[in-house]
Amino acid sequence: MKSYDVLFIHPPRVLRPSKGKNSKFIRGTYIFIPMGVFAIADFLKEEGFGIQIINYPLEQYLDRDWTLSDFLKRIDFNICGIDLHWIHNAHGAIEVAKIVKKVNPNAKVVLGGFSATYYHNQILKYFESVDGIIRGEGEIPFLEYAQNSNKNQPLDSVPNLSYRNSSNHVKVNSLSYTARTLDDLNFTNMSLLNNAKQYLECSRKIMGISFNLSIGRGCPFNCPFCGGGQRAQQNLGGRSEVILRSPEKVLEDMGEILDNYKVPSFFFGHGTYPANLKYWKRLFGLIQKEKFDIGGDLEIWRLPFPKEMWKNFYKTFTRRYSSISISPRTISKKVHQKIAKICDPTFKFPESLIKDLIKNANIFQRTLRIWLTVGFPFQTRFDVFKDFNFAMKCLLKYGKSNFKPITIMNEPYYVFPGSPAHESPNSFGLNLRFNSFLEIVEAFKRAKISFFYNVINYDKEHFSRASVRIANMLFFISTAPMFLTTGSKIPITEKK
Ligand code: SF4
Repeated sequence: MKSYDVLFIHPPRVLRPSKGKNSKFIRGTYIFIPMGVFAIADFLKEEGFGIQIINYPLEQYLDRDWTLSDFLKRIDFNICGIDLHWIHNAHGAIEVAKIVKKVNPNAKVVLGGFSATYYHNQILKYFESVDGIIRGEGEIPFLEYAQNSNKNQPLDSVPNLSYRNSSNHVKVNSLSYTARTLDDLNFTNMSLLNNAKQYLECSRKIMGISFNLSIGRGCPFNCPFCGGGQRAQQNLGGRSEVILRSPEKVLEDMGEILDNYKVPSFFFGHGTYPANLKYWKRLFGLIQKEKFDIGGDLEIWRLPFPKEMWKNFYKTFTRRYSSISISPRTISKKVHQKIAKICDPTFKFPESLIKDLIKNANIFQRTLRIWLTVGFPFQTRFDVFKDFNFAMKCLLKYGKSNFKPITIMNEPYYVFPGSPAHESPNSFGLNLRFNSFLEIVEAFKRAKISFFYNVINYDKEHFSRASVRIANMLFFISTAPMFLTTGSKIPITEKK
């Protein structure tokens, strides 16, 4: 029997895809493992712990008869770490914790990630299968937790830990650890993951992205629905500033992955904004020197994204498998202004700058994805009509060609725990649903897997939850020709 000190399990969203074992896996199964899990796993391994990472939805995709119980019965382990970073894994993470405890009652079950952090008290209160929650950032806390539990020592000194003590009381240790640098962490030790090669292949096939490359931690902005913005990270993880990995380290990671796996592109896990353009130029320069034949997926978090950056991106990455995305959510200046006023003065996406992006995407022939949402705060039906009109104009101009690289994407959104709109829904004109963790688990248990977010947790004036869902779906279907044609006919041999 194989034995591990720590087993990490990436949970599914639902335990079994709803249409039975022959159903097709879709993007909503979300097989991505949060990047930090690899760093924590490697950090513990370097300290001498035996580690294994299991990706539940991947295992089930590879073998429809795979069950977690059967897998756990064949191995021995002392601690099980379950990521609950994205709220959509709430039901799956709790179910995995229950299965682990049933098969191995002596194992300690620890959750981590933003959503687990936000609901730490409620999770420990309502779910006995969970022994502890590492809040915020996890390397040192997880290491100390593993060391202390192995020696049966008290846990009251473990930073960032919430746990149930021997008298069944919930204890909350201080939030005292945040990483000062990420350059001593390893985000690419894929050897710790079961079926790593298939993970990377399926990430591309199912999710459209091959490898999520860690660039940094933190974000200087506060977008209304995001639980990973500046204030949320400050409150949840004590992170007060952004840290970026050295470009040389990021380059090393790319080399490491390319040497061992066949991946066509990298998704960069941090976006561009005026204050970090220098960083991206430096990184792109290094990638060019290495002559990696690779695509890149890059997000613009704030404008402008000057022509010079487009040129740089064009020189660095292959045309096929590359994209640049931006999420203004609406083109309404009035909506952006209201959001800028109440939660983030930088939330500005002027139509003139969006048009510049479109122009440059056409000049440099690189895919540009513009993400919109029906049901954004302060958006009226007229704003939605204007967004639709904008999308249709783009569709008529670019939608029928395989070579015009513009795509309007559309998705309904979940108001994430810790986000500005979640913490102050009234200021954004929203009524929040599912306010307790128990309600959230139930909501995700009942939800069917869908292409995008499968639960909508708010309604607002002019938009019920049902109308948000349906309107986004219709919007998505109307712009689908752009999504389906963009880049589809680029010959494999065409690199630039
Ligand atoms: S959505 Fe906004 S707040 Fe969240 S990470 Fe992106 S830029 Fe930062």
